[in-house]
Amino acid sequence: MAQPVTINIAATGRKITVPTGLFINNEFVPSIDSQDTIQCINPATEEVICSVVAGSEKDIDVAVAAARKAYKTTWGKNVTGWERSRLLNKLADLIERDAQELAELETLNNGKPVKIARDFDIGDSVQCLRYYAGFADKIVGQSIEVDNKTKMAFTRHDPIGVCGQIIPWNYPINMWSWKVAPALACGCTVVMKPSEITPLTALKLSELIIEAGFPPGVVNTVPSLGSVGGAALSSHMDVDKVAFTGSTVTGRRIMEAAAKSNLKKVTLELGGKSPHIVFESADLDQAANWTGLGILYNTGQDCTAGSRLFVQDTIYDKFINILVEKFKQLKVTNGFDEEAGAGPVVSKMQYDKIFSYIEGGKQQGAKAVLGGEKRPGKGYFVDPTIFVDVKPDMKIARDEIFGPVLAVAKFSTEEEAIALANDTSYGLGAGLHSNDASQCMRVSQALEAGTVWVNQYNLLNNNVPFGGKKQSGRELGSYALEEYTSVKAVHWNYGEKLDWPL
Ligand code: NAD
Repeated sequence: MAQPVTINIAATGRKITVPTGLFINNEFVPSIDSQDTIQCINPATEEVICSVVAGSEKDIDVAVAAARKAYKTTWGKNVTGWERSRLLNKLADLIERDAQELAELETLNNGKPVKIARDFDIGDSVQCLRYYAGFADKIVGQSIEVDNKTKMAFTRHDPIGVCGQIIPWNYPINMWSWKVAPALACGCTVVMKPSEITPLTALKLSELIIEAGFPPGVVNTVPSLGSVGGAALSSHMDVDKVAFTGSTVTGRRIMEAAAKSNLKKVTLELGGKSPHIVFESADLDQAANWTGLGILYNTGQDCTAGSRLFVQDTIYDKFINILVEKFKQLKVTNGFDEEAGAGPVVSKMQYDKIFSYIEGGKQQGAKAVLGGEKRPGKGYFVDPTIFVDVKPDMKIARDEIFGPVLAVAKFSTEEEAIALANDTSYGLGAGLHSNDASQCMRVSQALEAGTVWVNQYNLLNNNVPFGGKKQSGRELGSYALEEYTSVKAVHWNYGEKLDWPL
């Protein structure tokens, strides 16, 4: 089974043909030794969309061999930076051309609103590819004087080699671009393992890899279960690096597998339980809007979701009232509805997990002032939920829920707010709202997070690094290039004679 399927999107009347095989050497192929498939579900209707081939461990071997061959022959050090740049720009053009179709496929498989998939996820992905295309012919080493007379050294920033890339389901196209773009810009080849929950757009993007003109084997895509394909990539002896975005538990497994195999380089983008602080001087209406974006964007399935909100006691009641009114205005519905501000969560498993946290929050004594109840009917819809008077030791205050569930607590002093915010093992994002510039500077420095937003939240740019401290990694910006290059130092003697014996 590796035949393409045609999917009819009832809401728009569009027919989309989607490849269902493994993408290796620029061809869609069946598994070499397995009949297993992955069923893709529409989270808004709970209907099966189609099934795709589930790659096996042996398929990963084949894909890695294809990536290695390409690395040694047509890519790696055999291709100019200019050519890599041209191909990445071409890919960006094709994604831009197909943005509406890709967005509809993303909505079908992931649930997010079409306009958000198109304008934000795909818009950002196009920019990401172009951003790294700009770097592809500017990856240079240094020339270093050693003794100013007879010796010098220079460095080369070589591509790392074959990269396994393992991505989650919350931003399937975005995560694909964040991983593929810097890897290809640096001259690496890729074996991509999309999430088994949302493999469809990665397969559709693979068609564009061919159309853009990338040589066979440069990008390979193997849909597979994490415990099969993901584990095989992480422990593979011929993979030079694994880049991962997903949960902290899986990140730990990947690092262990890398350590036990060939000590491959690993980068991890992990979870979060990000704090968001509102001080009394803040513009409360704006702070409420950004708080909404922080926890409700992508239905809260966002690693930087501002899921812990700390509000100064002097404005606490007033701010909660504003927040409740704002959150009620968000339309949570099928992502094909033009007015959808948020769609369903991605899967039954995610839906059940979120409601088990909601029930746990109620049992531990937190008060839901909004949401927290299941809807009748089909679809994994979770309404915006606000818990107030949340205590720091409650599970809803400590664990990453990955849903539209906000845990709110009160503070009185700046020191207390900082201590509450930093009381977490995560360190991905944090936000603060204040009209006191000195306070903004003090607090942004004190927050233990890789990204701090001041008087805004959740906005990212491709040219600004993104990632975390503590149990989280880093990507984007020029910093990402360091993760896909390996520095070689060449020492050069142009005059010193060595006396012998020593
Ligand atoms: P997950 O860790 O379950 O899965 C992520 C990917 O890892 C999937 O492709 C999965 O198949 C694969 N995987 C699973 N087990 C594996 C194993 N043993 N070895 C190798 N790969 C394996 O996470 P998820 O549920 O898909 O995504 C949600 C999580 O991702 C959340 O915790 C969220 O915080 C995190 N996330 C982080 C970022 C970030 O940038 N830091 C972005 C998005 C999501």
